[in-house]
Amino acid sequence: MSIVLLHLSIPIFTNLVVHFSFDNSFVNELPGVKEASMQPRQTPGACWSKALLSPVIKPALLAFSSEVAELLNLSDIDVHSDNFLEAFSGNALLPGMEAYATCYGGHQFGSWAGQLGDGRAIGLGEIINSAGERWELQLKGAGMTPYSRRADGRAVLRSSIREFLCSEAMYHLGIPTTRALSLIATGEQVIRDMLYDGNPRPEPGAIVCRVAPSFTRFGHFEILASRGEFRLLQQLIDFTIKRDFPEITEKSSDRFAIWFKLVCERTARLVVEWLRVGFVHGVMNTDNMSILGLTIDYGPYGWTDNFDPRWTPNTTDSEMHRYCLGKQPRVARWNLERLAEALSTVAPSKAFLDEGLAHFDSTLQNSMMTMMSAKFGLLNWKDEDADLVENVFELMTQAEVDMTEFFRKLADINHESPNLEDLRSAFYKPELFENHRAFFGKWLQRYSTRLGEQQNSGESRRLSMNLVNPRFVLRNYLAQQAIDAATVGDTSMIDRLLEAARNPYSDNHPSDLIAKRPEWAINKSGCSMLSCSS
Ligand code: AMP
Ligand code: MG
Repeated sequence: MSIVLLHLSIPIFTNLVVHFSFDNSFVNELPGVKEASMQPRQTPGACWSKALLSPVIKPALLAFSSEVAELLNLSDIDVHSDNFLEAFSGNALLPGMEAYATCYGGHQFGSWAGQLGDGRAIGLGEIINSAGERWELQLKGAGMTPYSRRADGRAVLRSSIREFLCSEAMYHLGIPTTRALSLIATGEQVIRDMLYDGNPRPEPGAIVCRVAPSFTRFGHFEILASRGEFRLLQQLIDFTIKRDFPEITEKSSDRFAIWFKLVCERTARLVVEWLRVGFVHGVMNTDNMSILGLTIDYGPYGWTDNFDPRWTPNTTDSEMHRYCLGKQPRVARWNLERLAEALSTVAPSKAFLDEGLAHFDSTLQNSMMTMMSAKFGLLNWKDEDADLVENVFELMTQAEVDMTEFFRKLADINHESPNLEDLRSAFYKPELFENHRAFFGKWLQRYSTRLGEQQNSGESRRLSMNLVNPRFVLRNYLAQQAIDAATVGDTSMIDRLLEAARNPYSDNHPSDLIAKRPEWAINKSGCSMLSCSS
């Protein structure tokens, strides 16, 4: 198919050929508001609303993911074409594309917030790639939709860089996530009060093209139940099972039970994966929970540097710690309960919901054990290992030990002659190393004895631990460096971080990308704490 851009109804023709084949099932099979509008409003009876494009003045491609481009069968030439720039900056539509915003609600920080919806995300349709896979495209920051409420539908460069890089970093870590195709500067300014201190100022704007098999959230179901739109809720469930869970082939009412169980299972697995790498989502509202168990909506997320289960990067949550690192499994369960409540209005049996939630609990427990065994290089899990593991996490918290560095160094430990000095580099403060020397020494002895019980030589244990304990994670201060440089026109740090993110478990990284958080980053905004303002 030759690319024809539909630019404000003026087609632009080019010689490029891209084999995009669209099947926009969400808008074709579910009811929506067909008149395009930006007027903020409630949209009862609709799963989506047609959106208008808001062209930007001077789009410029800052970065793209070659892996995602490949998924979409886009060549390097395609990605660098004018048409790509126009389409993925929201200036024009390719044939087959449709601009729409979906309707969802959500529980935010524990309270029902009513209708939210894609306020600054515009869906472009669903591509079927050459392998027959479905990939939905969505522009984040492309302008207002009926769900923008009082906001502008735009996104700032800093949060767009963070979303772009983290989506791809998570993917390469092996963690379920939405992907990011492109990062495009708009050439326009966006006004934001970054620190919520009454000082709004202009910042450069940007648009990320997100890509996922489905962007459906818990909130898509919740809004319909809250409105009493039960027929539509049932329709959305049927649609979701058919499109997003093709592995469910049962036809009977079991279909629902299996589906909800899978949602619970994937959600449990996801939070365990976050804990594995020390990732804190930051805003686990039900509107930010993917029905597929993907990490979605990268906002004030972060990686714990010094391990601390109470840590949250989100300034809005700095008092409550509702969404801190260690509470993520509990919050996931709470969110599933809200989803279950919504689904209970149409569920063939309430017991299916209870079974699903119980399955969350057992999956969480089993996945935690499997994950911790792998993290510590244990071939099997024994009951007493729980204490061993808890003990060291408590010590790490007290002694402010860097999580990423610690586990890489732990892999190197020789269990026949363990040396605490080998772990020293994971400590931020020499005095805390000294103060905790005896405790860590005792723990290391215990751990070494435990390792000695199993048939796993040092080298094979080291290799297997290094496959689950990343050497590179997108530390907050690293992303901030990319932001600072890009703000003055230098995108090289984005490229370097994307490159490092491709091989997170490798030992071969430039030393500045695997260094622990430096002193200067402790209190710098964007590095330690982030606001939701994006
Ligand atoms: P988030 O905090 O990004 O998960 O967003 C929560 C809700 O606010 C969603 O409905 C978003 O679409 C909406 N929202 C956030 N920022 C903006 C913005 N700049 N313009 C319009 N809607 C927004
Ligand atoms: Mg959101």
